Amino acid sequence: MRLVLLGPPGAGKGTQAGVLCRDLQVPHISTGDMLREAIRHATPLGAQAKSYVEKGALVPDDLVIALVEERLLKEDCKNGFILDGFPRTVDQAKSLDAGLHRLKIPLDIVLYFRTSLAVIIRRLSGRRVCGRCGRNYHVVNFKPKMEGVCDACGGQLVQRPDDREETIQERLRVYEEQTAPLIHHYERERILVQVSGDLEAAALNAELTDLFEKRKRLVH
Ligand code: ADP
Ligand code: ZN
Repeated sequence: MRLVLLGPPGAGKGTQAGVLCRDLQVPHISTGDMLREAIRHATPLGAQAKSYVEKGALVPDDLVIALVEERLLKEDCKNGFILDGFPRTVDQAKSLDAGLHRLKIPLDIVLYFRTSLAVIIRRLSGRRVCGRCGRNYHVVNFKPKMEGVCDACGGQLVQRPDDREETIQERLRVYEEQTAPLIHHYERERILVQVSGDLEAAALNAELTDLFEKRKRLVH
């Protein structure tokens, strides 16, 4: 199963990907996570990406495309993958489509998480992440056992610099301008499936499980 998760920041793509990748037995490839990891480790890519990520802008296409191409060639992608946060521009989509076409492994589904503005803002402004392992929490919806401390590794929970109010606005503007056009792009390709990003994580997960079960039955 080759899947793309499309939708605004705060739609819950990362959360669903975390569950889906286990169910579908394919890797979760999040360009946001990969970029933050590169920044944390101060790699050359991290140094190039840092200023863009922190102000809520997109990292240049050539850098992100190279990053994803390298990742998709790894052994663990041969049974499929879940792309989360990529493609995010029409050029990224064209490059991905062309690359997968060449390899004769087209995308199966683009899941579009349609999400209302109020939900997006509530989720992003309450999000906290572990400074050590990157795991996500939320001050209301998904609290750690001990306030400010990561359940998984004991690291300190912080707010992502790009989750500050002003930067959220910028990310939403960039999403509308650069990423939203992909909805129509994949609608035309007839692989877009719309789901509600407003649903709670568990409810949306149940819906997705259902969707993939039905699909499996259709294929077999
Ligand atoms: P969110 O979906 O919550 O905005 P992500 O973790 O997907 O967060 O991305 C965080 C930031 O990483 C983006 O605002 C952008 O700066 C950078 N980024 C991630 N994916 C891409 C991409 N495909 N192209 C360009 N920049 C990206
Ligand atoms: Zn942690």
